[in-house]
Amino acid sequence: MADLTPASVRRMVAWAVGPCVPAWTVLLLLAVVSRLSWTAALVSCAIVFILMAILVFARLADFDRVARYAEELLVNPEAPAPLLETSATAQRLLSALTALRKLWADRRGEADALAKSRQDILDSLPDPFFLLDRRRRVVSANAAARMLFELERTTTGRDLAGIIRDPKVLEAADLALAQNRKTEAMFTLPAPVEHTFGALIVPLSATAEDGTALIVALHDQTERLKMDRMRADFVANASHELRTPLAAVLGFIETLRGPAKDDAKAREEFLEIMLKQANRMTRLIDDLLSLSRIELREHTRPTQAVDIEALLRATVELLDRPAKERGTTVTLKLLTPPPALGDAHELSQVFHNLVNNAIKYGGEHGRVEITAEVSSARPPSMPGRGPALKIAVRDYGEGIAREHIPRLTERFYRVDTARSRELGGTGLGLAIVKHITNRHRGALVVESEPGKGATFTVYLPLAA
Ligand code: ADP
Repeated sequence: MADLTPASVRRMVAWAVGPCVPAWTVLLLLAVVSRLSWTAALVSCAIVFILMAILVFARLADFDRVARYAEELLVNPEAPAPLLETSATAQRLLSALTALRKLWADRRGEADALAKSRQDILDSLPDPFFLLDRRRRVVSANAAARMLFELERTTTGRDLAGIIRDPKVLEAADLALAQNRKTEAMFTLPAPVEHTFGALIVPLSATAEDGTALIVALHDQTERLKMDRMRADFVANASHELRTPLAAVLGFIETLRGPAKDDAKAREEFLEIMLKQANRMTRLIDDLLSLSRIELREHTRPTQAVDIEALLRATVELLDRPAKERGTTVTLKLLTPPPALGDAHELSQVFHNLVNNAIKYGGEHGRVEITAEVSSARPPSMPGRGPALKIAVRDYGEGIAREHIPRLTERFYRVDTARSRELGGTGLGLAIVKHITNRHRGALVVESEPGKGATFTVYLPLAA
């Protein structure tokens, strides 16, 4: 009983008085009707109270302990259970309370584990995610969102407006909350590198216990938009490239049917130009088809062992006529290159395009040198490690200004469009070279000093 407080003693005295009242009434009535002396009646009353108090103290002290234990559990779930003295019922109550406490602790553990696994799932998603409450404040943000917006781990309570400042996203979030429907918005983050994101904003059907009412899922659209733009540009460029020679051919047909109908000299001249334009269209279509075929296969690596020396010799032979026409000398310096791992047909296209360009842009009476050797190191743009086959095509022409070099392999990119057309170029040669070297897990390195010529070097994996 030592753990009883004055308040609980007072409470138990009050409890003891209640059951004494009927006995006290009987004893006092007996005294009133003189069947009992007042002394005996008062002594009996006292004895009744003492007996009742003993009974109450013995039985109810345990209930009082259990009640206080229950109160303590509200503030401290780890509070120790009290030791009970007599009451079996209080003991049952305590056991039930202890079982409830365990159940409650288990449930809390489960809820904590659930919250943690929810955060882990959100963190594992590559796209940035925010969970917001009904007042647009952050309930939680996943790792991708924290990294993108450089947020601390605890972002809870911040208004979304302080993180994504774009009014379109904020309006879409407000609309989703107000109308309880999915909304979308696009926004651009200018720094560190400009990125465009799509935000999908979904309201929950009922607000979650942690206050989550809205999910904001972001998806980086930069690449897709770039691809869309590239595709549109490509179609526009390809149509333009085809339309120009076609317009020329149609124009000459009209002239031949009209004013130059009986002019034999003009006919000869125009037919020659028409043939040139038709050949240009054929080359363009061939290059377009080549490019799309290579792109389709770009994910599968070629597996043949290709004799590079034979391929280079065949290329030089094939380009002998255009080289002679421009008075260009082509020399081969081959240090017995070992076979490369590749596709012979595609690699012959690579060398044809590079040597042809060197002849075309190397100037009249120029010099083109082709070397093939094993390089002990790979350039950073080539995947993997170890030696690689290095084939360089060097010319001593006008060269290429530094700012053009990174863009040379884009489709239809030319330093001088008129000159490229005049020389019969399609603007696709280097794009084809780039895609083929990519498919070969190789690399293309362009070096040039304006006025001193250019070197196009292809690195390829060795077959062995
Ligand atoms: P094109 O059919 O116009 O030659 P390419 O894709 O082969 O197309 O080349 C793209 C552009 O790169 C060319 O138009 C030219 O401006 C430049 N170029 C390519 N090779 C050389 C080179 N050896 N010397 C100088 N410029 C070159």
